[in-house]
Amino acid sequence: MRTEQNKRHIAILGSTGSIGTQALEVVDRHPDAFEVEVLTAQNNADLLIKQGAKYRPNTVVIANEALYDKVFDALDPLGVKVYAGAGALSSVVQMESIDMVLTALVGYSGVLPTVRAIEAGKAIALANKETLVVAGELITRLAMEKGVNIYPVDSEHSAIFQCLVGEFHNPVEKIILTASGGPFRGMNRGQLAAVTKAQALKHPNWEMGAKVTIDSASLMNKGLEVIEAKWLFGLKPEQIEVVVHPQSIVHSLVQFEDSSVKAQLGLPDMRVPIQFALGYPERLKSDFPRFNFLDYPNLTFERPDTKTFRNLELAFEAMRRGGTAPCILNAANEVVVDKFLKEEIGFLEMSDVLEEILDKSAFVQHPELDDYMATDAEVRIKTEEFINYKLNV
Ligand code: MG
Repeated sequence: MRTEQNKRHIAILGSTGSIGTQALEVVDRHPDAFEVEVLTAQNNADLLIKQGAKYRPNTVVIANEALYDKVFDALDPLGVKVYAGAGALSSVVQMESIDMVLTALVGYSGVLPTVRAIEAGKAIALANKETLVVAGELITRLAMEKGVNIYPVDSEHSAIFQCLVGEFHNPVEKIILTASGGPFRGMNRGQLAAVTKAQALKHPNWEMGAKVTIDSASLMNKGLEVIEAKWLFGLKPEQIEVVVHPQSIVHSLVQFEDSSVKAQLGLPDMRVPIQFALGYPERLKSDFPRFNFLDYPNLTFERPDTKTFRNLELAFEAMRRGGTAPCILNAANEVVVDKFLKEEIGFLEMSDVLEEILDKSAFVQHPELDDYMATDAEVRIKTEEFINYKLNV
């Protein structure tokens, strides 16, 4: 049995999103293992208030300052401290009482709070892949200096991490990231030109937020995961492969130097990798549905179609260039996904814009934090301008 002292005290950045709410489901099942210290949300004040009343964390942050009064009025009487603004995220993660920070923010917004949490020596459960895509070199260097562990929450990276448990210093020959292929697998460019936002938002296997669902449909999600894997596991680009596995049962694989391949399998359920990261090194008992091979007599694997879905190749290219190239790709991608969700550009135009911006943007080979921030801001403006110009022609 655990005592009050050895409960893990966690901060959940992005507690109202898909990962955040599933993390709280994990907490609900293990009240003796976890204590919620901090919850944060971007805009969903109603759900943040509900969560604050239920979990009674030390502190909540609502990033959208216009919603501060509403959250304060509801939670201050309950003894929950309330802060607002993006800057508050970077300070609350440094609170003394926090052991682990789950970063489940969307996109680039995760970079700075993650840096601040690592500086304060907090363990990281990383659900925000963009943080490592943008600033992987800086984040992993800082984590090493501070002796901070980064536990992956992304299902593929959790699978690889689970395959590496107990392997100590056995070198990895390569890793194989599995990809579902998304809702448009098998389509040609003609068909993709006509796909709608509603179709792109229907992922065959995973229930996720809008940004990652669109990225999955365009294979950019897998591209970002390739870069994330490079930094998490210290790999060279040529050690990372992607295979399409439409059933999403094999979550990823590791090949060792003796030719053995280890894989982690299970039903597609994000609560499993979330719980593994939050509870590591323990495998906490769960009542989640079990995988049965007889329900899946055919597990299939195929090569990704990178001629049709160019984003995966663009991500490999950005990774090989290094420096701020992945930061450029990520910033431009956040803009094009937003434009696609607003139905201002088509599905194929997303890759067209990304290719152009990646090729034409100024690039820093050895960036520091300021360079990433400047690059991100410049590329967003440039991408907007490029789209507006293109659409007005
Ligand atoms: Mg994933």
